[in-house]
Amino acid sequence: QVSGHVPSLRSWLSLQLCGACDTGVQRLTNLMESMAVSTSAAGAEESDRNVPRICGVCGDKATGFHFNAMTCEGCKGFFRRSMKRKANFTCPFSGNCKITKDNRRHCQACRLKRCVDIGMMKEFILTDEEVQRKKDLIQKRKVEEAQREAQRPRLSEEQNQLIATLVEAHHKTYDESYSDFSRFRPPVRQGPVTRSASRAASLHSLSDTSSDSFSHSPESTDMKLMNFSSIMMMYQEQSSSPESSEEGSSHLSMLPHLADLVSYSIQKVIGFAKMIPGFRELTAEDQIALLKSSAIEVIMLRSNQSFSLEDMSWSCGSPDYKYCVNDITKAGHTLELLEPLIRFQVGLKKLNLHEEEHVLLMAICLLSPDRPGVQDHARVESLQDRLSETLQAYIRVNHPGGRLLYAKMIQKLADLRSLNEEHSKQYRSLSFQPEHSTQLTPLVLEVFGSEVS
Ligand SMILES: [Zn+2]
Ligand SMILES: [Zn+2]
Repeated sequence: QVSGHVPSLRSWLSLQLCGACDTGVQRLTNLMESMAVSTSAAGAEESDRNVPRICGVCGDKATGFHFNAMTCEGCKGFFRRSMKRKANFTCPFSGNCKITKDNRRHCQACRLKRCVDIGMMKEFILTDEEVQRKKDLIQKRKVEEAQREAQRPRLSEEQNQLIATLVEAHHKTYDESYSDFSRFRPPVRQGPVTRSASRAASLHSLSDTSSDSFSHSPESTDMKLMNFSSIMMMYQEQSSSPESSEEGSSHLSMLPHLADLVSYSIQKVIGFAKMIPGFRELTAEDQIALLKSSAIEVIMLRSNQSFSLEDMSWSCGSPDYKYCVNDITKAGHTLELLEPLIRFQVGLKKLNLHEEEHVLLMAICLLSPDRPGVQDHARVESLQDRLSETLQAYIRVNHPGGRLLYAKMIQKLADLRSLNEEHSKQYRSLSFQPEHSTQLTPLVLEVFGSEVS
């Protein structure tokens, strides 16, 4: 039996391949010839058995189809290497060595011939490598995607909770139906009839130009100046009207209604503040100090929700509760406050803040550690820092193109400080006149009052 010779082949071959023994070569060749016949017959039988997992080249255990034929890993690698090197082997024997698992390394020429005979094709090497390359590429993309996913900024559970709390607090304290407004003392838009009419007309044209200028070229200084001068003209027209017109211009017809509106808004701001995590843990004194100094700023911020760029006014439901600049002048405020206030409202509106950003900005405004009268600076600051970090993280994650948004929002807080200052000035002069201060509510008097808790 041929198989009986196989174990000795290895030792024979090692002698032969080093070329040490000529007689060995001859004997080996004879042996191999006789074996080749018997195994090719066996190979034919095997291939009938529905693709056995046996290498078609050497008979070793096959690992699958490689380059179009069932082979072992060894013969797969051999075929690939040979093709790549464009190797040109020569059989040292008679050119038809029988290749087995044990001798397959000994005659490359016949091993390669066998490879081709059983159908291995170099075209499949390219295909397989292409497949591998694609697999690698897919894998690489998966890894990159996973890395991106891992690096993507995220909001922590705590930050998400904070935002949810603030949004809920805002919903509970800001009624978009404005149905409570009917309980305020009613708005009275009377005034010297002719002047009122002309003012309304000029305001109307002002609204048109300003909405245009703001929406098309917000940075245009010319347009701003034009707006400003038209507002100033209106204002001068108004203030030049003699104090002596019938009822006297000291009668501020919108004051009762707007005082009630502001008083109501202060209550809502207090309600909102109390729901900001950490606020109620502050001392009562610090809570009061924060509220007293920020209330008007938060009111200005939250009023942006009803502010409309189309007509530069605050629309709170019915036409009765639609407030334009002129209405507010009838509550004692001058354009030194109203002009920058309108500009502020326009700028804020144009930031197109998400509700989450809007509520965070209000909370950040409320928890400013540098307000007069604040004792526990560090504590307020750490609460504000947490809010600021959450806002920045929110913008990074959820506001595409919001690279500069945080800075713009912080600028709005600076604008609010000067608006606050101007408001205080105007409030003081108003409250010094008893006929006006009696129109205010106790809450307004307390919150806007100058005495520091
Ligand atoms: Zn093999
Ligand atoms: Zn050979």
